Amino acid sequence: MRLATAEINLTALSYNLRRIKALAPGARVMAVLKANAYGHGLVKIAQHLNDADAFAVARIDEALALRAGGLTKPIVLLEGFFDRADLPILIANNFETIIHDENQLRAIETSQLDARLSVWLKVDTGMHRLGIEPEQFEAFYQRLKGCDNVDPKIKLMTHFSCADDTNSPQTRQQMETFERLVADKPEARCLANSAGVLGWPQSHGDWIRPGLMMYGVSPMLNQVGPEHGLKPVMRLTTRVIAIKTIAAGEKVGYGGRWQSQQKTQLAVVAMGYGDGYPRNARNGTPVVIRDKRYGIVGAVSMDMITVDIGTNPDGIAVGDQVEMWGPALPVEEVAACAGTIPYELLCNVTPRVSYEYLALSD
Ligand SMILES: *Cc1c(COP(=O)(O)O)cnc(C)c1O
Repeated sequence: MRLATAEINLTALSYNLRRIKALAPGARVMAVLKANAYGHGLVKIAQHLNDADAFAVARIDEALALRAGGLTKPIVLLEGFFDRADLPILIANNFETIIHDENQLRAIETSQLDARLSVWLKVDTGMHRLGIEPEQFEAFYQRLKGCDNVDPKIKLMTHFSCADDTNSPQTRQQMETFERLVADKPEARCLANSAGVLGWPQSHGDWIRPGLMMYGVSPMLNQVGPEHGLKPVMRLTTRVIAIKTIAAGEKVGYGGRWQSQQKTQLAVVAMGYGDGYPRNARNGTPVVIRDKRYGIVGAVSMDMITVDIGTNPDGIAVGDQVEMWGPALPVEEVAACAGTIPYELLCNVTPRVSYEYLALSD
């Protein structure tokens, strides 16, 4: 019997990419695949994104894994390279790099390279993580344009810090800062992550960088993927492995974190933080069994979770499938019950979970 399983619906993935293109018809798509494609499986996901224009990852190892998997599209390194010694690897594998600081620029200017490097110049317009300062923009731009090691078709980018909140003035301010800098430049612009694609159509520019939404999940505050016409790609399931009856007043699980108010039945399901399910999920976090929601009770342990099924009106039995998140239960909702964001839950699915790649229609 298969216990913890992540079903990955490749039909939903293609559907979401088409939906993204419809939302940003003028933009090319850099599909963001960092962190094992947000826990969905790097190479398998990339192989099903034929209609993306480029891939993006955070680390050189992730980019090399894509090449080893036979993927030939352009790959952009979102944090750039970390050491001058990385540059030949970038050239040999046709990786494109972000430039976000002086050290990187100087390394490119002072290296002997076999070919020109494709470069994305990243400006910090308010995120205050990576990126050159707006005041540095013109000088960096001119140095890149004048550097023989750099493909003159550079691209210009920035990253939003609050695009998930359409009431925040921050995104508009970031767009204005960026536009002021690049207004007289002919190069392609790239600003929008998923939240930019969904919440800020003015930010679409020439390239977009969707991650989370490709997987059918919403980055927007208090919204879920299907509200944007997206379909969840991952369905995380397991099975009921035991059912027991407890009396009123019994404490359940490590630390006795939950106490029954009346006699009830518990379904023990084979899933825990060892599979990546969040240990912080509070009492009442939903799971779906036989098309109905039930709440978890007691502490999540490494391999098991207890679910209060009351008088078991639906006749839940050992072996029944349990959906922890997926089409019947948005991962956004489970994340909220655990005080985190859906990104973290997806990335945290562990290698103990078996992956099944399926092409499911509705
Ligand atoms: C992760 C990342 C993205 C994708 O963000 P989503 O919110 O998942 O769409 C885009 N751009 C950069 C620079 C990133 O680091």
